[in-house]
Order: sequence, then structure tokens, then C-alpha cells
Amino acid sequence: MIIDCHGHYTTAPKELEEYRKRQIAGLADPKYTPAKGTLDIGDDQIRESLEGAQLKLQRARGTNVTIFSPRAMGMGHHIGNETTSRHWSEHCNDLIHRACTLYPDNFVAVCQLPQTPGVPPANCIAELERCVTQLGFIGCNLNPDPWGGYWKDPPLTDKWWYPLYEKMAELEVPAMVHVSGSCNPNFHATGAHYINGDTTAFMQFITSDLFKDFPTLKFIIPHGGGAVPYHWGRYRGLAQDMGKPPLKELLLDNVFFDTCVYHRPRIELLLKVIPADNILFASEMVGAVRGIDPETGHYYDDTKRYVDAIEGMSAADKEKIFSGNVRRVYGRFGARGLKR
Ligand SMILES: [Zn+2]
Repeated sequence: MIIDCHGHYTTAPKELEEYRKRQIAGLADPKYTPAKGTLDIGDDQIRESLEGAQLKLQRARGTNVTIFSPRAMGMGHHIGNETTSRHWSEHCNDLIHRACTLYPDNFVAVCQLPQTPGVPPANCIAELERCVTQLGFIGCNLNPDPWGGYWKDPPLTDKWWYPLYEKMAELEVPAMVHVSGSCNPNFHATGAHYINGDTTAFMQFITSDLFKDFPTLKFIIPHGGGAVPYHWGRYRGLAQDMGKPPLKELLLDNVFFDTCVYHRPRIELLLKVIPADNILFASEMVGAVRGIDPETGHYYDDTKRYVDAIEGMSAADKEKIFSGNVRRVYGRFGARGLKR
């Protein structure tokens, strides 16, 4: 069983994007009153959008299940207001639920949250609860910067976020720390803002007592942990200078990294530096980087190939990375009555 913990519905039928365009166009009209409206997408359209993309790649690469969430760039929390963010998130999550219901052996759902700049994250609790308790979702994507590159809300470790964490702990669902688009021209979205978000979240965790307050809370830092594994010595040293316990003790019961890095040397480094217990296999397909590496002849995001190529990895560690850790971190993974 190979579980990919990081996949987005980047190939959703065009009606979803058209809905969003209408919503954004409405926001420019001062007389606009947000209305949720409907999304007219048939099951066959959903099947078609997945068969030639995520499902085809699962089969070709030999992975079994993808933990599936709405398109991260599409979350666009910086756009609109609390109401439009809620309408948009509900539609995106409902569509994920439909995709996962059509292919229960291939996809397990994770939701986006209706975050809005300057609005307390407590406003996301109702949607998280709906997705988990009514639709069987097993986690959420949490945007550490709903401002899209301007970082004007408090850090993830601030009490601003605590009501949401209390609900996550109660529901036993983890969050993947995942930014959305960048509206700051200094930061390219997937090339800089994403990696900044990952790295920033980790450093915030080091400087806080968040996991003393929430000992069971779990976060996945995607994209291989941003710059963190590469600078592990720096972060260990910073923690030490601050009088903190070693990182392993401080964070590694609560913080996990995925394998979404797109060449073999960096996967080797990740596996050398971070304990196997804290690494979750992922590819983020179909996602940020879609091309083929001319140096290898394979897709950059075919990350299973890199993990398989690591020499000397024990069978036990491989099992953890490919499936065991997901079951531990996403406590609800096995609780959906599916045959797995
Ligand atoms: Zn992603």
C-alpha cells in the first residue's frame, strides 16, 4: 500500500473556475450581495477530469491512494471576504467529497478552510466540522498567510489560532501547512511563497510552546519541509541558543515532512536528516511542476522513483514512509469503512 499524502484537484471541471470568476467579478461591483449559488458539474465530468490525470499517474507510478484536497493556488484566501471565502470553500470541498465518493479506493479527502485576512481562524471551525463529521474528511490544509505574501496575521503559534486547534485536536485531524497564491510580486507563488511558508511555519513552531498546549496536534510541512532539512543544523543551533530542548524532543511528535521535492539528491538529504518516523510520502501531483526532467527522462514529481532509489533503507522505514506514518498522523485514515 502506497499512500500519497499530498494531491490537489488541479484538474477540476472548468465550471469550478467559472464560478470563481463570477464571484470575483461580483466583488468589483459595490452593489454585489454574495450568494452561494450552485455548481453544475456532472459525475461523468468528474470522472473524466481524474481518469486522464491523477488516476492515470497513480496507475503508472504504482501508488494506491492519494490524500486529496482542493487546488491550493485556487484557495485564494486573500480574495473577497469572509462570506465569499465560505461559499467558495464549501463548493471546493463538496467537489472533493464527490471525487472521493466516486473513487473511494483512490482518494481520501482533506478540506480547504474558509480563511480570510484579518478574520479569526475560529470562523473556519464550522466548515472543518462539517467536512470531518458529515463528509468523512481526514484533515485540512491550513494557510499560515491568508494575506497572500504579506503575512499580516499573527504567527501560527499565536492564541489567535487556538480555537481552530482545539477543534482539530477534538476531531483528531492534522493540518498540512499550505499557503495559497501570492499577491506580493516579490514572491513567486510555487517557487518562493510556498517554500517560505513551509520554512516560516517551522521556525514559528521552534520559538513557541504550542505543543505544550496541544500535545496531540499534528502538522505536515509540505514540499519536503521547505528549507528546513537543508538547514537542519541552523535550526538545531537556534533552538539550542534559545535554551530549547533538542528539536527531536521539541517538535518531532507533532511536525512531519512530506517528500515533495523534485530531485533525488534532496530526497536523499531529507531521509538522512529527518527520522523516518517523520516523513510521509507525497508527490503533489498533478501540481506545481508538471514537466519531465531532461536529465533523467522522468517527471520531476514522480517522487516515488527517488524514494525507491535510496540504497540501504530498511523495509520497516520504507513501510513507514509509504503508508505507516500516514495512518499515524491522519488518525481517521482507516476509519472510513474502506477496504484498506
Ligand atoms: Zn500542495
